[in-house]
Amino acid sequence: MRAKSDTYLHKGMRQKMVDGIRERGITDEQVLTALLNVPRHFFLDSAFEKQAYEERAFLIGEDQTISHPYTVAYQTQLLQVKPFDKILEVGTGSAYQACVLGELKAKVFTIERQKKLFDVNKSFEYLKSFPFIRTFYGDGFEGLPTYAPFDKILITAAAPFVPDKLLNQMKPGSIMVLPLNEGENQRMIRITKSQDGTIQEERFEEFSFVPMLIGKKE
Ligand code: SAH
Repeated sequence: MRAKSDTYLHKGMRQKMVDGIRERGITDEQVLTALLNVPRHFFLDSAFEKQAYEERAFLIGEDQTISHPYTVAYQTQLLQVKPFDKILEVGTGSAYQACVLGELKAKVFTIERQKKLFDVNKSFEYLKSFPFIRTFYGDGFEGLPTYAPFDKILITAAAPFVPDKLLNQMKPGSIMVLPLNEGENQRMIRITKSQDGTIQEERFEEFSFVPMLIGKKE
């Protein structure tokens, strides 16, 4: 059972969570405010209400996790989200990251390969409060050609390589953020496509994500 009420106690826990993220070096105030506004305990079973605001990842079913709050803040900051940006997210999972992007007034197209996780989100009341978030069941390696090109692409699972089809779905001047396999962990990478189509790559810190897998799962 998911919690549905957001009390001053939850808000207090969220404030502490955001203070912790700020101390670790996230500076984008809009990103911090978005994390303050999204009730993270709505995305977990109510048994985990208190832990929802600890700096940790959680199982959300089907062996998948909701990312650490710091990781969500980190990826979102690198993405430099602007209002009305058209964003493709790979790996909807709990839809927490999608709602953080929604709080930043982006138009979100989020894709999940696991049917069960996709189905859970179809009846998730809080998610329905964001009219500009659309969820899709499919393989993120394919992207969403029908809706391409995108201003931003965010991959939230460990990518074995930079998917070619996603590079092709980037607008000139767009950004893609992804955790790319490097040894045991992943290196956070930001790819920028310039106006003339050339690709530039920046490397950031190491993280640990669940794998990005090829194909859909029933
Ligand atoms: N953004 C999520 C984090 C999810 S964990 C959140 O905020 O909760 C990564 C998710 O990526 C998992 O749900 C996993 O099933 C999904 N995934 C892995 N490979 C994928 C692929 N090729 N296409 C779409 N989703 C994928």
